[in-house]
Amino acid sequence: MATTHYMNGRLKVFCGDITTLEVDAIVNAANSSLMGGGGVDGAIHRAAGGQLKAACRELRRRDWPDGLPAGEVALTEGFALSARYVIHTVGPVYARGEDRSVTLAACYRNALALARRQRMHTLAFPAISTGVYGYPFEAAAEVVLEVMAGELAEGDIEVGLCFFSADDARAFDAVAQRLGHDSTA
Ligand code: ADP
Repeated sequence: MATTHYMNGRLKVFCGDITTLEVDAIVNAANSSLMGGGGVDGAIHRAAGGQLKAACRELRRRDWPDGLPAGEVALTEGFALSARYVIHTVGPVYARGEDRSVTLAACYRNALALARRQRMHTLAFPAISTGVYGYPFEAAAEVVLEVMAGELAEGDIEVGLCFFSADDARAFDAVAQRLGHDSTA
């Protein structure tokens, strides 16, 4: 499936396996234990190798003894990944009747801020919270687009949204189109 570009080429939307990307950092949709889990978290831990778990254990001990709260970010190396770093974040668990979009936005915003502090230029995100955590895909896409429209005005960083399924990539493009974001192939 082709890549779609938005925001002067600074936002790329494509379908793929985030563990294979050669970028400064990939973002992990972790859980607060940071000890790995299912979905993209498990895939990242498998591809990065056991050193990632050791690094996460050290993060827990040193910085987050009670676990990483939703919306926060933590940095490790990428170890066996092609990505140099992993930015771990914890998305909100979707709750009907409670708006957790601010927390979801914080995941993206804090990851971008950390990447900038580290002088990174390329960053890739999975669809945080839209798997096991149950966040409706289109509502999440609206949050992502709003954050990116604000954050990517400065041209110092390129962001990839790496969707595991072609259906998700198409659904994202449909939301972007509905909200009036110009795209180029
Ligand atoms: P969460 O717990 O935050 O909902 P999940 O890992 O359950 O996180 O799902 C988040 C998204 O990541 C889902 O759309 C899932 O299909 C996707 N995903 C799973 N494995 C990969 C992968 N290797 N690369 C990119 N995305 C992935």
